[in-house]
Amino acid sequence: MEQTSHRFKENAERALASSTLRVALDRTTTLLRTRRAAVVAAFPEFAEVRGTAARIKDHTIAHLDHYLEMFERNAIASGAKVHWARTPDEATDIIVRICRQAGARTATRVKSMLGEEIGIGEALAAAGIERVETDLAEHIIQLAGDPPSHIVMPAMHKTHEEVAELFSRKHRRAPDALDVASLVESARRELREKFLSADVGISGANFLIADTGSVVTVTNEGNGELTTTPPRVHIVNAGIEKLVPTVEHATVLLRLLSRSAIGTEFTQYTTFYNGPRRESDRDGPREMHIVLVDNRRTDMLAGFLRPMLRCIRCGACMNHCPVYGAVGGHAYGAVYPGPMGAILTPAMSNLAVAGDLPNACTLNGRCREVCPVDIPLPDLMRRLREEQWSRGLTPRVVRSGLGLWGTLARRPGLYRLATRLAVFSLRLVGWRAGRIGAFPLAGGWTRHRDLPSPQRGTFMDQYRAGRRR
Ligand code: SF4
Repeated sequence: MEQTSHRFKENAERALASSTLRVALDRTTTLLRTRRAAVVAAFPEFAEVRGTAARIKDHTIAHLDHYLEMFERNAIASGAKVHWARTPDEATDIIVRICRQAGARTATRVKSMLGEEIGIGEALAAAGIERVETDLAEHIIQLAGDPPSHIVMPAMHKTHEEVAELFSRKHRRAPDALDVASLVESARRELREKFLSADVGISGANFLIADTGSVVTVTNEGNGELTTTPPRVHIVNAGIEKLVPTVEHATVLLRLLSRSAIGTEFTQYTTFYNGPRRESDRDGPREMHIVLVDNRRTDMLAGFLRPMLRCIRCGACMNHCPVYGAVGGHAYGAVYPGPMGAILTPAMSNLAVAGDLPNACTLNGRCREVCPVDIPLPDLMRRLREEQWSRGLTPRVVRSGLGLWGTLARRPGLYRLATRLAVFSLRLVGWRAGRIGAFPLAGGWTRHRDLPSPQRGTFMDQYRAGRRR
């Protein structure tokens, strides 16, 4: 997808003006938050498991070289071929080469964010290979020509009414009715023969298990196995941070993933892939390839963004983020939206082009509270802001504002005088109406809503008065 994070403000303005987007976001994020809260409340050991999960990920990341080599050895011993890619281009070249060697004309794909990250859709199209997205939500956005707007619910920006209209136009046979069950049935009808005729199946990985060489995926629709089993060739694309040492460690993370992502105890399907079809197997692919992708993960490993490599891509942070809830995923202009995207996008591209993202945050801390691997997301965003400042990337108006504030904050007498003057002036502006409808030099605050007039006295004055009482 084309990265437009440098136009975040413009994208966000457009998103805020869409009333259908607001309905779609409200419906889904509210549902996911409510379901997550219920399932976490029914899991008293959640905090303890969360701590264990963070330690497992930290340990694996600290010994990543060791576990990667162990995984490679064991995956090869199971009959898979392992490929290494430093960049998205290297990864797509490898995947396209495997498809060509297999004489593939069609590839089915089960959703993986890594596939979006490396641009697998564009690479297959350029190679003349038909790509069939098999997840219901991915099928919707493929038909609509949209990029994903959420890492777990990529079609979150669409209401089911919009999906009904889309299927009626694009499916060979229109849905029998416009309710959700009929839409699902229509997608199934459309995709069924594609599953059986595909030459290659491409999937991601939720976890890679070092001591068995297994690839673990979790899905809910049953399309995972239909994508990876009937074709002659199965290609897995996975980021190197997906590793865990053993199956036991994977099960700790599995207990958190589904609860955090969709508010259920477990997903419908948890599949462990161990190499291609063996002589005694009745079905399965003849070849299995695993493409391990770095794409700047080792840079993150070496720097202050290392905790971000714990991420298990559950999406809980975006479901609880007020900014994501208002503007949706497309405004971020990158594969990864929301709080995790505000960190991953600059890390994987460039702080100069994605600098608005770590600033699109109120630092309210809800993302960290719900993150199942306890990633200090607000702290990482603050560190990115600091780096922006020290590299001179902070916009001039923000630099001047912060510079002024810094000067005042170092001089308490002057600070008190300035805040009193500000309170006095604002009360004067909102004198009659009790609210301020237009703000000179800071119109962004009042463009979409009025600001209440401040109370008499500054916060410090009121605090002191309160202590005296
Ligand atoms: S940062 Fe945490 S909450 Fe957000 S997607 Fe990753 S694991 Fe989930």
